[in-house]
Amino acid sequence: MNILGAGQCGTLLATIMARHVSSIDLYERGVDPRKADGHAGRSINLALAARGVRALETADVMPHVEPLLVPMRGRMIHDIDGSTEFQRYGQRDDEQIYSVSRGHLNQVLLNAAEERGNVNLHFQQEALSYNSSLCTAQVRDRNSNKVYDIAAAPLIAADGAGSVIRASYDGSDLIGASRSLSQHGYKELVIPAGPGGEFQLDPGALHIWPRGGFMLIALPNPGGDFTLTLFLENEGEQSFSTLTDEQSVTTFFESHFADAAVLIPDLCSAVINNPLGMLGTVRCRHWHDAGNMLLIGDAAHAVVPFHGQGMNLAFEDCVLFERIFAEIGADWQRVFENFESTQLTNANAIADMALENYVEMRDTVRDPKFALRKELAFELERRLPDRFIPRYSMVMFHAEIPYRVAKDRGEIQLRLLEQFTSDAEQIDQIDLEAAVATVVRQLEPVASDRP
Ligand SMILES: Cc1cc2nc3c(=O)[nH]c(=O)nc-3n(C[C@H](O)[C@H](O)[C@H](O)COP(=O)(O)OP(=O)(O)OC[C@H]3O[C@@H](n4cnc5c(N)ncnc54)[C@H](O)[C@@H]3O)c2cc1C
Repeated sequence: MNILGAGQCGTLLATIMARHVSSIDLYERGVDPRKADGHAGRSINLALAARGVRALETADVMPHVEPLLVPMRGRMIHDIDGSTEFQRYGQRDDEQIYSVSRGHLNQVLLNAAEERGNVNLHFQQEALSYNSSLCTAQVRDRNSNKVYDIAAAPLIAADGAGSVIRASYDGSDLIGASRSLSQHGYKELVIPAGPGGEFQLDPGALHIWPRGGFMLIALPNPGGDFTLTLFLENEGEQSFSTLTDEQSVTTFFESHFADAAVLIPDLCSAVINNPLGMLGTVRCRHWHDAGNMLLIGDAAHAVVPFHGQGMNLAFEDCVLFERIFAEIGADWQRVFENFESTQLTNANAIADMALENYVEMRDTVRDPKFALRKELAFELERRLPDRFIPRYSMVMFHAEIPYRVAKDRGEIQLRLLEQFTSDAEQIDQIDLEAAVATVVRQLEPVASDRP
């Protein structure tokens, strides 16, 4: 079995599938991050949630990942006047998400894959294209510049959002991919640890500075620093295109993020010089070419990062893939068909919810009605725990609930919450008995389609 791309998805898949197939070859265009000085220590971090945790447990790597995690119980909203408000993500103590360094997580996964003994890691091997008639991928050895073919026996393409394997099908209906780029981009900045190594913001929260059309967020790292991400339009009056010199950056940050600006030592040069990242959604009509090639992870379904679910979804892919393989065996066409028919609607559902969540994070969280709806949702969950689970909780804390179920139920729940809170400003103005009766009439208990 050949896997292309040793990012989170390809490496975890190799680790899990090494239990089932005799030999796996994992090809990666980059250098081994465990040997590259400095690279792996970059503090770019991701939010890990229940689906990701379940996958890491399935691969038996959670004991190695746990020391890397910083738990976040909710959002810390930073208002423009510097005041803060903490909003819990869930109501149970175990309902939290975790900040984890992308580089360190990748290292743990590579070690785990290597320890299996039957995963052969090939670094600096770059796929150039895929030939679907010959069922071969053309690969260039970056050390020697030699180009050679690998057979799709099968080929699992985990080569990320810009997948060259997916691009090899452009213009054909076999995969039918579309990529929609957001008009918003992002830049990463850092708040270093304080003089004694202490956190300069509360480390138990994901910090958000919501400003309507744009926002700044911060996730803690175990070393006491925070990685910040500024999400903003690429072009326009208030956009990255206007943040080009010290004056414009200083004015922008002092007007919108004054409390954060004082904590970022190299603010102007970082904003001007750090690379501008693109955001987009990749959707495909199909993910596989017969039993030869399968797209997985971001290569199949990149989503915008506003629900913190891209990696969690990619990890869920790995768990599902193994489950289907364990049922069917090495009949790859059937494995791929089953995988696609189960997961494609889930990927589209989280892609939609991630887009919606950008509006929630940068804008709706400031609305008092949002807070009231959230309070009511928690109350209904306490009274009807198997029928009313807030949508955010279904996505982040309930790995057993498919994304499409979370989306469908979430839409009904939102309608009900809007109806119950339409004439209320506080929860004691709502007839809770009537609300409970309505929920019982309209929503069946949540059914999981997972074993
Ligand atoms: C700003 C930002 C914040 C995010 N935050 C979160 C978050 O909080 N939580 C979350 O769950 N997700 C988050 N995501 C999404 C997450 O990063 C991705 O969904 C996840 O990394 C996908 O993993 P992957 O292995 O499929 O792809 P990748 O991580 O992109 O890995 C692809 C691998 O393939 C290799 N490769 C690419 N092309 C070739 C080639 N031609 N030949 C050989 N190798 C190749 C690459 O070098 C790479 O190692 C975020 C994304 C962004 C952009």
